[in-house]
Amino acid sequence: DHRPGRVARVDRGVCTVLTSDGPVRASCGGALLAAAVGDATRLPGAGDWVLLGTWPDARVTVEAVLPRRTALIRRTAGKDASGQLLAANLDTAAVVEPVHPEPNAARIERLLSLVHESGARPLVVLTKTDLTADPAAVARQLAALAPGVPVLPVSAETGTGLDPLRAEVAPGRTLGLLGPSGAGKSSLVNALVGAVVMPTQSIRRVDGKGRHTTTWRALVPLPGGGAVLDTPGVRAVGLLDGESGLDRAFGDIADLATGCRYGDCGHEAEPGCAVQAALASGDLSTRRWQSWRRLHRELTHETRRHTTRP
Ligand code: GDP
Ligand code: ZN
Repeated sequence: DHRPGRVARVDRGVCTVLTSDGPVRASCGGALLAAAVGDATRLPGAGDWVLLGTWPDARVTVEAVLPRRTALIRRTAGKDASGQLLAANLDTAAVVEPVHPEPNAARIERLLSLVHESGARPLVVLTKTDLTADPAAVARQLAALAPGVPVLPVSAETGTGLDPLRAEVAPGRTLGLLGPSGAGKSSLVNALVGAVVMPTQSIRRVDGKGRHTTTWRALVPLPGGGAVLDTPGVRAVGLLDGESGLDRAFGDIADLATGCRYGDCGHEAEPGCAVQAALASGDLSTRRWQSWRRLHRELTHETRRHTTRP
């Protein structure tokens, strides 16, 4: 007797699966684990439809992942060459960028290429339009980057522009949000649900969990029957080049860095540095930046030692 369900999130190998009886926690069954050796994308991920099996001792396992309609996969080089599943069965995948700080064209293009590969319908959502006098002008600039991809200007703050987005979460449809930390994804989820179901940055800062904690980001079923899936920060999942252990440990800073004007920004005094801007606005704590800088210096020093002394 296999029950169907949909994976809301995966945390250290344990899936939270939404079923008609409510959410259930399940680990992966042996056959599934065996099939995923050498191809981690075969493991269940957020958005996957799965079949659950229940054991005599009441343990629940994911026995099978049903065929995916779309799959957002981060391709990786090296030992884990198969890649990493970010989200499954998205009907629409929205690249989310705020009007402020200035939208990052390179990041939008990279994320859109990932969406095109996934099979989901691409969309650009321009957030925080209440922060600019002329959102339409910014939207036109973004539209020029991606011909044929709709650009939706929205403000979670004022509720402006949300209606076209609601169509993406009509019954049976799943919308995925993809973009850097701080872009306003959680606020959008809350606006679509009509209640605070996702902690936004200000809440996350107060409770001390920090923006790098991304495990609660997951599939959220909406009252109307659709669903929205908030993916972890783009840098936190290594979508961009040059990901390192440091980026993984400091996903918040790595996410911010995707907004820096220069790709090789050292976040010290470079013009257009998004990390310095976050420090100045208080979005990033000085303590956290200092610990990042200390580690960053140690690591770059290490690299130099290794490269100068073969
Ligand atoms: P996430 O990291 O992408 O989930 O971003 P959040 O939803 O946590 O938003 C980051 C910050 O931007 C928070 O302080 C929000 O209050 C703020 N924010 C989100 N949406 C809007 C908006 O539409 N207008 C304005 N002015 N601020 C927003
Ligand atoms: Zn910088």
